[in-house]
Amino acid sequence: DRPLHFHRDFVHMTDRNGNSAPCSPIRVMQWNILAQALGVGVDNFARCPLEALGWSRRRSLILEEILTYRPHILCMQEVDHFYDTFQPVLAGLGYGSHFCPKPWSPCLNVEGNTGPDGCALFFDESRFELLDSVNLRLSAMMIPTNQVAVVTTLRCRSTGRCVCVAVTHLKARSGWEWLRSAEGSDLLWHLENLVQTPVGDDSGVKVPLLICGDFNAIPAEEVYRRFAASPLGLDSAYKKLSPDGLTEPKYTTWKIRATGESCSTLDYIWYTKDSLRVDAVLDMPSEEQIGPNRLPSFHYPSDHLSLVCDFSFKEKE
Ligand code: NDP
Ligand code: CA
Repeated sequence: DRPLHFHRDFVHMTDRNGNSAPCSPIRVMQWNILAQALGVGVDNFARCPLEALGWSRRRSLILEEILTYRPHILCMQEVDHFYDTFQPVLAGLGYGSHFCPKPWSPCLNVEGNTGPDGCALFFDESRFELLDSVNLRLSAMMIPTNQVAVVTTLRCRSTGRCVCVAVTHLKARSGWEWLRSAEGSDLLWHLENLVQTPVGDDSGVKVPLLICGDFNAIPAEEVYRRFAASPLGLDSAYKKLSPDGLTEPKYTTWKIRATGESCSTLDYIWYTKDSLRVDAVLDMPSEEQIGPNRLPSFHYPSDHLSLVCDFSFKEKE
């Protein structure tokens, strides 16, 4: 039988001199944790028993996953237990946090919901000092949408360097590719403005970016191409797992609904390639580990897998 937890290894990158990572990288986790209200009320996972979806069980598995990797920066989507669970529990572990609920969360249509779901950003206060945080409602052609982002600027206490972190969850489902693209462009526009003016720095050097999201878009979609081609100089960290370093993983979400099986790559960690280096990437569980009933399951609380990477600042030129 499969073990209760997926065993996943970090794949370490080596630089041109064959040296591996420096001492204290910044660990970043991106995870759509599956809103409790959506999981039990909307998703209709065909092969996941309802008992596996109980909140007390899922709450434990989600917190265990976070504690297993202990990220310095944690970005989550579909958070509908921020105020009663994640904010207080993670505050007790030394994390500061920001939450932006969706304006019209689909959770609110589910009986017994615990409020709107949204994007949440947590940071380790012993590692980072908060400089600024904004909640954004993303627009498409000037019209506000139901999608949001949290953008937080932090200063690393050990190096003194700043980093701007964004978490977002773009519009779901096929047929909405144009909306995801417009929302992504709006986020990029905001980020271009936000990284222009580093606090207490007049060197003109832009603040490095980390953008974590459930983009609901496969790599072939326009929004992905817009991020890859952005003047911000972004790259997607999980490509580093592939042998050629250019290919996204085969999946970041894998589920079976009544409508069929869905296995695709929708989640990304983007980073500024000129100023940040990827030191390590947590590998994806294999098809065998995930199992024939896919996700979520008794072994894993969400239909999306967590993405975890270690970054360090590149030396200034
Ligand atoms: P999205 O289409 O972006 O999806 C919302 C959630 O549904 C996501 O978390 C997504 O998960 C999940 N989802 C995607 N596909 C499926 C599926 N096949 N089955 C079950 N869940 C799925 O939603 P919007 O943000 O555009 O919000 C839509 C809802 O919001 C409406 O249903 C309505 O209830 C409400 N709304 C109400 C308005 C009002 O005026 N009252 C206005 C606007 C919205 P994932 O990302 O993991 O795929
Ligand atoms: Ca979902």
